[in-house]
Amino acid sequence: MSSERLYRTEAIIIHRRDQGEADRVLALCTPLGKMVVIAKGVRKLRSRKAGHLELFAHARLVLARSRSSWDVITQADTVEPHAALRDDLVRGTYARYMVELYDRFVAEGEGGEPIFDLVRRALGYLCQVEMDRAVSLLARAYEQRLLTLVGFRPEWDRCVGEREGHACGRPLGAEGNEALGLDPERGGVLCPECYQANRKQRTVLSLSPAALDLLRACQRQSFARLQSYPAAPALLVEVERAMLHYVTYHLEQNVRSGTFLRRLRREDKN
Ligand SMILES: [Zn+2]
Repeated sequence: MSSERLYRTEAIIIHRRDQGEADRVLALCTPLGKMVVIAKGVRKLRSRKAGHLELFAHARLVLARSRSSWDVITQADTVEPHAALRDDLVRGTYARYMVELYDRFVAEGEGGEPIFDLVRRALGYLCQVEMDRAVSLLARAYEQRLLTLVGFRPEWDRCVGEREGHACGRPLGAEGNEALGLDPERGGVLCPECYQANRKQRTVLSLSPAALDLLRACQRQSFARLQSYPAAPALLVEVERAMLHYVTYHLEQNVRSGTFLRRLRREDKN
């Protein structure tokens, strides 16, 4: 095998499926973009690569280019195993949701180093954070960053509404307690007047001022700092619902693991 056919990359394994007798096809998030590759013989008992190619693991790979099929993994080493994401059901569900969002928003061959860094850091945090509050805030912060990197950055600072043919653009601060609107079609928040004028539209949701504050914090604050954000459970539920609505609108189909997360939460309460 000539050396110019080989290349190296770091990668996060985001999906795996079995292929033939002993092979596995892997979808990867890498600094070179989203890739689909094959690991030959990894399902054999004595495979040395297998342990480095677990779901959600961060690995360092050497690949051989293939002209006719998927590129082939020739060497694999673990950088971070992210074992907690496979051992813990709730962390695993959030991890699946995060990589699914990546998978749905980023096409094969697209997405570069900034998105890889985001996915890597978010999964790393997900292994460490406390459950419930912090994990939910992390998911919301991840959504804001991913949406920004794929060109769907939500506007939380100014009203995105239109009235009488003019863009509203009203700056929205923390003041007031009137209901605001979430308008995924226009890409952000509606001021109270624009919300009242558009509330009958199927895609417009109501949004509390506290939810807007939290969304804004999720867009700006670091993962570490967000963990101390004072958010009551009801507010976290409102913001999760708002973002699922926003994301679903832009994907024009349901994000399956998001639905699964809601179901899991319901079952948890019973
Ligand atoms: Zn407005």
